[in-house]
Amino acid sequence: MSQRGKVTVVGSLNMDLVVKAERAPQKGETVMGEEVHFIPGGKGANQAVAAASLGAKTSMIGSVGDDPFGESLLSSLQERGVDTGTVKTVTEASTGIASILLSQGDNRITVVSGANSHTLPSDVEQHRQVITGADGVLLQLEVPLPAIQQAVELAKKAGKTVILNPAPARDLPQDLLEQVDYLTPNRSELELLSGISPEKEGLDRAMGRLLDRGVGHVVTTLGEDGAAYLSPGEETVRVPGHSVKAVDTTGAGDAFNAGLAVALAEGGSLEEAVRFAGKTAALAVTRLGAQSGMPNREEVESFDQ
Ligand code: ADP
Repeated sequence: MSQRGKVTVVGSLNMDLVVKAERAPQKGETVMGEEVHFIPGGKGANQAVAAASLGAKTSMIGSVGDDPFGESLLSSLQERGVDTGTVKTVTEASTGIASILLSQGDNRITVVSGANSHTLPSDVEQHRQVITGADGVLLQLEVPLPAIQQAVELAKKAGKTVILNPAPARDLPQDLLEQVDYLTPNRSELELLSGISPEKEGLDRAMGRLLDRGVGHVVTTLGEDGAAYLSPGEETVRVPGHSVKAVDTTGAGDAFNAGLAVALAEGGSLEEAVRFAGKTAALAVTRLGAQSGMPNREEVESFDQ
């Protein structure tokens, strides 16, 4: 892993409305929360901020509304070093929102897509140079599938590395899976995509099913247990998690994906990339907030817990 990599993220930008409470309310119940925070989020923006913080030259393709949340999201991305010249401002919808309830280190999230659902294949096409000029293209599933398909196709044709974080979980077309170099589900996304329960039938079988469907490599995140990966013709490799005090697991997967993309963009091996990603994510869960909790390069390199 040497020279600075170029990463383009195609994905969502949301304002996270984070409420901290002692516990989650039951149906019909009201509980008093302790704190509220307005924090820039969205899986795409989180991953872009994390990639830029790790030192990658990072561009983002996505959409915000023509409103104060949108402005605030763009300036926070810029402050963290993300090029937002390729983010569209739309008038038809308001900036996406995620309502996040944090209680006892766990999170419950409701997302309203808003402007994110206006990211179109034509937007991707318009900014094709930031895709074809990147080392790696990192995508999630919070923007419409046609835009994702367009970006993946452009990236593949240009011989770029495609990393797809299949979150939130949904079934994916075969031709898209065949163009993905690295698919990065968590346990439940792996189960949904493979149709195999990793708990009951094993991680190997579940990840193997996705390789059979044409994915290049599968990297599964396992929460505090770390991650596991599988490449064609090889055995599953497990990379243990780091023992840290989890303060906020929102964005753990985003930190992991960014770490993976940055290391791969710099020419790291899959094993190096998964280890780097695990350190990035472990540091991120020790801090409140998705984007604000993303560690910088130095912190990840000196992390040895
Ligand atoms: P997601 O947030 O997408 O559901 P995971 O929960 O699997 O994804 O977490 C992603 C990564 O974050 C894990 O692979 C691990 O590296 C790290 N991580 C998550 N939770 C913890 C934790 N409690 N302690 C240490 N690392 C964690």
